[in-house]
Amino acid sequence: MVSDELISILERSGIQPSAHRMAVAHYVLGTAEHPSADQVLAKVSAKFPYISRATVYNTLNLFVEKGLLQELYLAEGKVVFDPKLDRHHHFIDEETGIIQDVPWEDVQVCNIENLKGFEIRDYQVVLRGRAKPAKRRI
Ligand SMILES: [Zn+2]
Repeated sequence: MVSDELISILERSGIQPSAHRMAVAHYVLGTAEHPSADQVLAKVSAKFPYISRATVYNTLNLFVEKGLLQELYLAEGKVVFDPKLDRHHHFIDEETGIIQDVPWEDVQVCNIENLKGFEIRDYQVVLRGRAKPAKRRI
């Protein structure tokens, strides 16, 4: 994503595009990697060694709050960030930990409306296993 585009995305969301926010946005709004906050920190500090952990964490929270990112709880104690906001499912490779998007229409969940006692607001399927070699993204 080019910087001008990022600046206008941030400004449209009411976010002041500081250099550090731009650095975080540049990676996290364009990635399909589903990084954790620590992975974002590692990636961004490779280019901006003086960026603090607090800045990265606060920026991620701000992006979530402003609707630019979604926070996903895909495993116990593991929160990852996803810039893809339209509905989709996820596949987690149990050996590599790599998380891939699965198109919404590729998995169907049936009978949700028959569940008694729940008001379902949202759902997604998290599939686990091994990616087949041709599809493995490393
Ligand atoms: Zn995703």
